[in-house]
Amino acid sequence: MSAGAVGVRKRILIIEDEPDIVRGVRDALEFEGFEVLSAGDGRDGTRLAREKSPDCIVLDLMLPDANGYAVCEAIRGHNAVVPIIMLTARSQESDKIRGLEVGADDYVTKPFSVGELIARIKAIFRRLGRQTGVEEVIKIGTAEVNVRQHTVTRGRKTEPLTFYEVELVKLLHERAEQPVSRDELLEKIWGIQPHPANRTVDNFIVKLRRKIEDDQKRPRHIMTVYGYGYKLVP
Ligand code: CA
Repeated sequence: MSAGAVGVRKRILIIEDEPDIVRGVRDALEFEGFEVLSAGDGRDGTRLAREKSPDCIVLDLMLPDANGYAVCEAIRGHNAVVPIIMLTARSQESDKIRGLEVGADDYVTKPFSVGELIARIKAIFRRLGRQTGVEEVIKIGTAEVNVRQHTVTRGRKTEPLTFYEVELVKLLHERAEQPVSRDELLEKIWGIQPHPANRTVDNFIVKLRRKIEDDQKRPRHIMTVYGYGYKLVP
């Protein structure tokens, strides 16, 4: 890499203790022109996340000194915005939901293809590159979503929103009052090929409702369109 490219390249932090995986992911990401940092445990990873301001973090769930959930929470404690993709060997839905609840934006189940991981990372940066011209504040019921600051304010309470939560609000808002299919949301936001068993969108909707709706059990703004997807009623 030429020195002139430094500062332009996106910086990815990998937190993973398995050297083969780190090597494979690092080689592929560097080949794609990314700058790569790696940490072999949670402590080092949390420190690098704070000191080096990565543009995206790939975080393994199984680390020698901590589990990925705790590391994710620690990182979120000082950075509400950075996209975090969790690597998990578990395919159980409850583990994934837990990962999303502690602030992960996405997950890739091991064994994964490096190509799949890179496609996810590129989808994140494609969407980040399209931020211009977007309204800064989106009003939904009594909530105000600030798409630049990645926050939602309802009454006196302001909470952080993760990268994908903001993207979901933006896309649903662009098409307000119209149903948007799960498949389209998966493809456009996550860059994932549609699959009926993929619950990513639904899991994120649950989290968004909790932050935006007055009563998440009786949503009035983020509506389910049965068998199809979701509709935003601002
Ligand atoms: Ca590991």
